[in-house]
Amino acid sequence: MSDTDPVTRLLETARGNPVDEPFRVTGVMMQYYHVCKRELWFESRNLEIDRENPTVVRGTRVDDTAYEENRQNLHLGMISLDLLEDGRVIEVKPSSTLTEPAEMQLSYYLWYLDRVAGIEKGGVLAHPRERNREHVELTDERKDAVETAIDGIHEIVSKETPPPAEEKPFCDSCAYHDFCWC
Ligand code: SF4
Repeated sequence: MSDTDPVTRLLETARGNPVDEPFRVTGVMMQYYHVCKRELWFESRNLEIDRENPTVVRGTRVDDTAYEENRQNLHLGMISLDLLEDGRVIEVKPSSTLTEPAEMQLSYYLWYLDRVAGIEKGGVLAHPRERNREHVELTDERKDAVETAIDGIHEIVSKETPPPAEEKPFCDSCAYHDFCWC
């Protein structure tokens, strides 16, 4: 196991520098860390589920066609995001029921752009069906929260077995439901 801390390993991996043990965090992993740590562990093992199944409705990966004409897709190493015409990063979610995980996903994108590419951007968290949008800036507090979460994600994905299932209001609509409750 590498002695280098997870944030440094992630940054060195992202910059393409030699790392004994590369460490990658995607936006979805950041989101799942704040939704359910067991779900994060499954995701880290590439356990593929039929996410097109209409019964899987929680929508953590569901995008929306709103803003489609005004945005461009950007892939940068571990992250894939959408930029609005004015350069802000937009994260579109179908509902505001899981706001904190969505805010952290967006904050991670802003942090990654800043730390890996030296690009400072603001973000927009949009819920078009609810006709609302929230501006998200990368404050010092958010930077600390992202880096603390990266440490936490590393701890979870390094485990040999998943954390125990803990029932949540959205378990019925989770893609991994059958691994937890059947
Ligand atoms: S069913 Fe519930 S406990 Fe299991 S992975 Fe999904 S959200 Fe987590």
